[in-house]
Amino acid sequence: MSGTFLGLPAFPEAAAAAVQDQRLRANLRHATGTIRAKRARAVAELADWAELRAAAKAVKDRTLERLDHYLVQLEQNVTAAGGQVHWAADAEEANRIVTGLVRATDEREVVKVKSMATQEIGLNEALAEAGIRAYETDLAELIVQLGNDRPSHILVPAIHRNRGEIRDIFADRMAELGRPAPGGLTDEPAELAEAARLHLREKFLRAKVAVSGANFMIAETGTLVVVESEGNGRMCLTLPRTLISVVGIEKVLPTWRDLEIFLQLLPRSATAERMNPYTSLWTGTHADGPDGDGPEEFHLVLLDNGRTDVLADRTGRQALRCIRCSACLNVCPVYERAGGHAYGSVYPGPIGAILTPQLRGTETPLDASLPYASSLCGACYEVCPVAIDIPEVLVHLRERVADGPRHRLGRAAAAAATYVLDHPGLLRAAERAAARTRRLHPRRLPGPGRAWTDTRELPTVPPEPFRDWWRRNRG
Ligand code: SF4
Repeated sequence: MSGTFLGLPAFPEAAAAAVQDQRLRANLRHATGTIRAKRARAVAELADWAELRAAAKAVKDRTLERLDHYLVQLEQNVTAAGGQVHWAADAEEANRIVTGLVRATDEREVVKVKSMATQEIGLNEALAEAGIRAYETDLAELIVQLGNDRPSHILVPAIHRNRGEIRDIFADRMAELGRPAPGGLTDEPAELAEAARLHLREKFLRAKVAVSGANFMIAETGTLVVVESEGNGRMCLTLPRTLISVVGIEKVLPTWRDLEIFLQLLPRSATAERMNPYTSLWTGTHADGPDGDGPEEFHLVLLDNGRTDVLADRTGRQALRCIRCSACLNVCPVYERAGGHAYGSVYPGPIGAILTPQLRGTETPLDASLPYASSLCGACYEVCPVAIDIPEVLVHLRERVADGPRHRLGRAAAAAATYVLDHPGLLRAAERAAARTRRLHPRRLPGPGRAWTDTRELPTVPPEPFRDWWRRNRG
């Protein structure tokens, strides 16, 4: 996953620092509260929401069961339509493929449609190392890029910024990457949007290469789908000569009939819209010469990067159903307080807590802490349009972490407790010993157990074990 996130502290430390940031908390509270309320209204309009949700879950599960078959079918149809398919086992290979493809065009800059997959692999950094400049064209991604920042939300990557901060970023940084912000720029949304529009338009008109992700890929025709709200995606997908799309292998759907379900679920869950302002679909290259609509050269990079490992886990694989709508982030009380950066990944919030440790493993303190970044309240499961049981996967991953080398002491303590509880005589002796030494008991646990007593009182041991009291008073 992107090197930008490597070396960050584990979730508890990062979250503890984030909750002290009053401005961040105010920005998040306002933004998530607004989206939450709008989404609830948009979803309530559909009488068959539950049926759509069940259908989406079934389609995704059925597709994941035969993923190899649908991916081969997709490859055949993309190739037949004039595109070229590349298979990337990991981030390094994907970056190498994309860098090579851009170099082959002799271009030194690309425009980008917002894409989680390219952030996951750290493509912008890899392109920069190769001397190629990548310009983000989604408004929120542009704010993050100009601010040398990290995204903190899947759908609204600059959700941690307010209007005043965005104005300052535009005024200070736009000139470095192209057209400067207009003089006297205020924090009025219309003015900020106009500044971004002017800044980006010259890039759209100049760019010869675009890089995108895709929300869905349709196996039966080799068609890719991008949904978005700003029109920047449409510009990137239609104007440049060469289009390179980097897409996770789990994004494939068998047929157009399947797509119909997701095009109803995604906009309502994501932006609380009945339908996306822009839904772009393309199949291979266009066949109308240089004046036609769409790319003359199309490359699809199919990205694994840990997904087949996720697929092999019968409980964890439901995370691959995710359509990146962000609804789970917006309802999560932990996300609302800690913000997205605390998750140390391009995938924050509840989905990040189950996806990142599966894609990256649970070896680092950060990744091992993510399955615990939840109160298990279940709100994420309630809103998820593809019915991912996030609490179930969190508990499953906690088991995996607890089985790992970090928790040897905890396992030894549990084994000792099991032994004592299995032997009544020993338990009685232990209870009496604990009662007799109660005044010597520490108020906080030492060593790794300290974190537990940082926020909790250790229970006080009574002066007499209950069994002894019962025998004395009730015979
Ligand atoms: S887990 Fe569900 S709610 Fe969360 S982003 Fe994915 S699809 Fe949306």
